[in-house]
Amino acid sequence: VDDVFAYVANHRDRFVDELCRLLRQPSISAQNVGVKECAELVREAVVAAGLDARVLPTAGHPVVYGEGRTAGVARTVLIYGHYDVQPPEPLEAWTTPPFEPTIRDGRIYARGAGDNKGQLFAHVKALEAVLATRGRLPVNVKLLFEGEEEMGSVHLPEFVAAHRELLRADVAFSSDGPMHPRGPLVFFGCRGILELELVATGARRDLHSGNYGGVAPAPAVRLARAVASLWDRRGRVAVRGFYDRVRPPSAADRRVLRAIPFDAGAIARDIGVAPPRALRGAAYYRRLLLEPNLNVAGLGAGYVGPGFKTSIPREALARLDARLVMDQTPDEIEAKIRAHLRRHGFADVAVRRVGGSFLPSRTPVGHPFGRAVIRAVERAWGRRPIVIPNLGGGLPDHLFTQTLGLPSVWVPYAPHDESNHAPDENTTIEAFINGIRTTAAALFELAAA
Ligand SMILES: [Zn+2]
Repeated sequence: VDDVFAYVANHRDRFVDELCRLLRQPSISAQNVGVKECAELVREAVVAAGLDARVLPTAGHPVVYGEGRTAGVARTVLIYGHYDVQPPEPLEAWTTPPFEPTIRDGRIYARGAGDNKGQLFAHVKALEAVLATRGRLPVNVKLLFEGEEEMGSVHLPEFVAAHRELLRADVAFSSDGPMHPRGPLVFFGCRGILELELVATGARRDLHSGNYGGVAPAPAVRLARAVASLWDRRGRVAVRGFYDRVRPPSAADRRVLRAIPFDAGAIARDIGVAPPRALRGAAYYRRLLLEPNLNVAGLGAGYVGPGFKTSIPREALARLDARLVMDQTPDEIEAKIRAHLRRHGFADVAVRRVGGSFLPSRTPVGHPFGRAVIRAVERAWGRRPIVIPNLGGGLPDHLFTQTLGLPSVWVPYAPHDESNHAPDENTTIEAFINGIRTTAAALFELAAA
């Protein structure tokens, strides 16, 4: 791919200029600002690269679908990305305005630079580079660029299920999220998520704690006891069957876990708390990536503002998020939490599903397409990537692995400190350019795998 890499080097400045043009177009899905216009810009960029592209409607923001077919080539790669961005607020915290891309010290600062326009555009420019140098792609390519990722990909499941034929492929290859602080990263899926709200209610209204305390129900106490019952003294989830369907790590998983760099000191410096002795090295990553977790994301009851209010709040609520691993499902875990509360005498504590929920998703780490992508990253960066089995967080990966039945490999193209979802979001020009090189090399490696 030296000729393709040379093309990328020769057109580097233009590629950066074109990315800046895309970044100048707001596409704030949650606020419906500029999304349609951005979809059109992305479509034009895909066409300019030499592929066919259409803007396809969903019940929400549109999908940009692109396609590059090569006669006589059987293998098809599906590339996913998202062109929508998070709201830019608070605006005053930005060094330069979020939709006026600015280059400082080798970094492009703008909303979407890292998450995910910079990464999505790297795929587009890679396709241009391959077509311009070789005249044909080594694989068929299908591009699926959605406009609602930052809203939880609300309509993507419906879209993918309705377009199974259109999206038929052999492998999914996508870029999102930050790289590892030590360099490029490859991963093979993500944990799932379930979001629940627990609500305990008492009297019809807040009550005076002097006039009613001791005789009226105390929902905050009730809720605290219900929440506390979900964990044992060691901090493990006490919900019966919570860990039942967790897959033991494979030999390949264990090898990969052992090879991830682990630095207890760096973690302690970063978050202010060192991981416990029992969770060092592979054990840390096994717990974080291959085991489920239940977390209290928020607790609310009564008045905690300035001064003091002696009242009995009428309601108390807790928000829980469960991070799920193969083969858990959100429905199964919700049912187990409900059963736990009933069994422990908390049938009066209401359970509500809130927010989105995602299935966990995994492709085996030793998959031949995974090895092909690792080789591509090595060629593009000149070094071996760090490989992790899956992310701790969530992505719509199950749509590719479960709905479409594809192996799926992810390579982030944004630096670890991209400040996504925050002021001064950025990407490095190096990460963007090496992202272009990675996609280009991956097309050839995936063709040969
Ligand atoms: Zn994001």
